Amino acid sequence: MSHTHTHDGWPQPYRLLDAQPYWEGLAAGQLKFQRCTACHQAVWPAHSFCPHCNADADKLEWQSASGRGSLYSYSTVLRGPTPAFASIAPYTVGFVEMDEGYYFFAQIEGAPETMKVGSRVEARMIQRGEQNLPVFVLA
Ligand SMILES: [Zn+2]
Repeated sequence: MSHTHTHDGWPQPYRLLDAQPYWEGLAAGQLKFQRCTACHQAVWPAHSFCPHCNADADKLEWQSASGRGSLYSYSTVLRGPTPAFASIAPYTVGFVEMDEGYYFFAQIEGAPETMKVGSRVEARMIQRGEQNLPVFVLA
């Protein structure tokens, strides 16, 4: 299976081996992230060592996130870069400060004028091409 082909026009993410539990979680409707059992900090994106304290991979534990957080920053895209993205433009993307203590980049659904930095958001799964992907909506 190719990792970069498109399906229904949606580019499919390149799946790094370190992040395989993340993709398996999405397929099951769960948002997974790593937490270091040595320093207890959240680790995202997936690593093979702790970027906070340098602990080895065996100290990184996969956990399920609540899917809730606060909007940290966002931007509305008016012209999609490909036909698939153009079909949903305008759309908003941004960073969510997750309640578990990491920053997650995703699409934020809803009218941009209803959003503001600090707005509470929660994840929903949508089907994009071959897999579930999380998008956030105002909570
Ligand atoms: Zn650590």
